[in-house]
Amino acid sequence: MAVINENYLKLPGSYLFAEIAKRVATFKDDNPKANIIRLGIGDVTKPLPEAVIKGLHAAVDEMADARTFRGYGPEQGYAFLIEKIIKTDYETLGVTLAVDEVFVSDGSKSDVGNIQEIFGVNNKVAITDPVYPVYLDTNVMAGRSGQLSSGKFAGVTYLTCNAGNNFIPALPEEKVDIIYLCYPNNPTGTTLSKAELKKWVDYAKANGSIILYDAAYEAYIQEPGVPHSIYEIEGAKDVAIEFRTFSKNAGFTGTRCAFTVVPKSVMAFTADGSQYPLNSLWNRRQTTKFNGVPYIIQKGAEAVYTPEGQQQIKELISYYMANAKTIRDGLKSIGLDVFGGVNAPYIWLKTPQGYDSWSFFDKLLTDAHIVGTPGAGFGPAGEGYFRLTAFGSQESTKEAIERIKVKLSL
Ligand SMILES: *Cc1c(COP(=O)(O)O)cnc(C)c1O
Repeated sequence: MAVINENYLKLPGSYLFAEIAKRVATFKDDNPKANIIRLGIGDVTKPLPEAVIKGLHAAVDEMADARTFRGYGPEQGYAFLIEKIIKTDYETLGVTLAVDEVFVSDGSKSDVGNIQEIFGVNNKVAITDPVYPVYLDTNVMAGRSGQLSSGKFAGVTYLTCNAGNNFIPALPEEKVDIIYLCYPNNPTGTTLSKAELKKWVDYAKANGSIILYDAAYEAYIQEPGVPHSIYEIEGAKDVAIEFRTFSKNAGFTGTRCAFTVVPKSVMAFTADGSQYPLNSLWNRRQTTKFNGVPYIIQKGAEAVYTPEGQQQIKELISYYMANAKTIRDGLKSIGLDVFGGVNAPYIWLKTPQGYDSWSFFDKLLTDAHIVGTPGAGFGPAGEGYFRLTAFGSQESTKEAIERIKVKLSL
């Protein structure tokens, strides 16, 4: 008799997006003529940059010729891509990395989800609240969470982020072993300063903890002084793993390419207390369970690092960040409390007096025909907040904000 992994049963259903879809469908049935604008999606909408398309086409032609055809590549990714990642994304920040410290993958979602496999089941996990659900759910599946009780898993440490603490998580009171941080943050769009990030690196050093740092939105940082990589912080190369993706900077959400940095100096412990490098564990995990990103896709990603590619992704990001400004300024002008949207494509707003996350969702849909994402869907501390995204077209984003101004003026 095959028994299931019952940890999966601890997970609540994927209620958030199903519930949104249901409410939107009902509204559409009742109002077939309404022009609904979706500012809820966390997916890019602009096509791939020209430089990437050129790189992809050239690689397809290579695969068509016996002399340049490639079969299996290195599981960790081709050196041509890794070398450009290191040179362009890290050496410019003063961070040096070896080629075998960067692992190319098919996405940060898989990497941030899979990384917990190389850690023991008894580690205490800390997540920010609200949070990108992958960090939490994969630890629930692995048996690190305990039971769900009144919205929180008993064995997980929730680091509350709200307007009260300016979305800066406080160091935990109990000792934690694995800490997930995502900056610029999804869903709140907020960032941490180098000094704030340093507190976490120092905490990890003092407690033998590991920081799993998701920098998916690094390219959206506009302000000087905001860290692009955790390795800008002294000591981080001993305690942090960093996740990056081409999804949000270069439009690869459907093309799939990302990478994870595991410096060889990052150590965790065996049960008898001796140090063990996570780089070799992750390498073992990847070479066993993953056969690499397609050559064609890695050539597309490599093209991101050409001068044209760099220019074109800058333009993509500026396009979305102009939307972020439209949303931010528009909401502020009618007196809403707005966070994020300066160094990230996410705007996190406090729902107006008298509305919780879901009743505000309904009001926005009914009065303005706009779909956003209720903050409560990202964790208990998201209640009373609401997320709008800058990934729409400039036209529809402007139209949405005009509607909000007319319908929602407080
Ligand atoms: C979009 C996103 C990712 C990227 O996932 P991919 O699998 O690389 O597309 C990772 N982390 C966060 C927080 C995200 O929002």
